[in-house]
Amino acid sequence: MSQQYDVAVIGAGAAGMMCAAVAGQRGQKVVLIDHALKLAEKIRISGGGRCNFTNIHTSPQNFLSENPHFCKSALSRYTPQDFLDLLKRYRIAYHEKHRGQLFCDRSAEDIIDMLKAECDLGGVTWRMPCKVAAIGKLGDAFRIETDAGEIMANKVVIASGGLSIPKIGATDFAYRIARQFGLKLIEPRPALVPLTFEAALLKRLNALSGVAVPARVACGRTAFEEAMLFTHRGLSGPAILQI
Ligand SMILES: Cc1cc2nc3c(=O)[nH]c(=O)nc-3n(C[C@H](O)[C@H](O)[C@H](O)COP(=O)(O)OP(=O)(O)OC[C@H]3O[C@@H](n4cnc5c(N)ncnc54)[C@H](O)[C@@H]3O)c2cc1C
Repeated sequence: MSQQYDVAVIGAGAAGMMCAAVAGQRGQKVVLIDHALKLAEKIRISGGGRCNFTNIHTSPQNFLSENPHFCKSALSRYTPQDFLDLLKRYRIAYHEKHRGQLFCDRSAEDIIDMLKAECDLGGVTWRMPCKVAAIGKLGDAFRIETDAGEIMANKVVIASGGLSIPKIGATDFAYRIARQFGLKLIEPRPALVPLTFEAALLKRLNALSGVAVPARVACGRTAFEEAMLFTHRGLSGPAILQI
């Protein structure tokens, strides 16, 4: 027999848990599905294990988007202060590291525990680990075939994340589903990536591996003044990742 829900959220990362928690707390009957064995691995490794969970100076100007108005509305409806208020309710200690970047004092685990508790507060049903085999439409509803049986939902939220780090669960699931339902796709491009040196340059600069320096890194009219790190393959650090 199929299980009936108002909302099925696929992917229990930061986005999926937040979405499931809010929908549940607004009275929706929600199921949250994830195929991973361990919850929210990407949050766990974020910010070097301390999760750089927000920046107090966050503004729409910090975002590149095909639709620049989207983040204006998103950020006005949920501000960094709203997230800080949530952390306060869970007594999660944090500190400012650099230019408004906020990190947990203890561990990124605090953020995972908080989001999980928020889901539980919203009465969210967990299906994890649980594989989704297919999604189809049945009238106005969605039929989701999983290895835990059939799930029917009026709304489906795909929060299965981007393509980075497949070994901790990332898949192209969202893109496949978008194609299946005829949604327009913007081809993904790598972002926030380190740079690698050619062999000759790498040989010359290898001795600097591990050295971090304050730098101004520019490309065209965009520039970032942040730390730059020499690695065993090339360059990394916030200034390089952002450019
Ligand atoms: C090394 C590293 C450090 C980072 N540091 C920071 C930081 O300090 N601050 C910051 O803001 N951001 C940071 N980020 C980025 C941030 O972690 C991600 O943007 C964010 O976690 C993405 O959340 P998400 O919910 O969209 O996706 P994800 O966290 O990727 O969650 C997607 C979930 O969907 C599940 N899933 C995928 N496919 C399926 C499927 N077919 N069926 C069922 N489930 C599926 C996955 O198992 C996963 O649990 C970092 C990223 C990396 C890689």
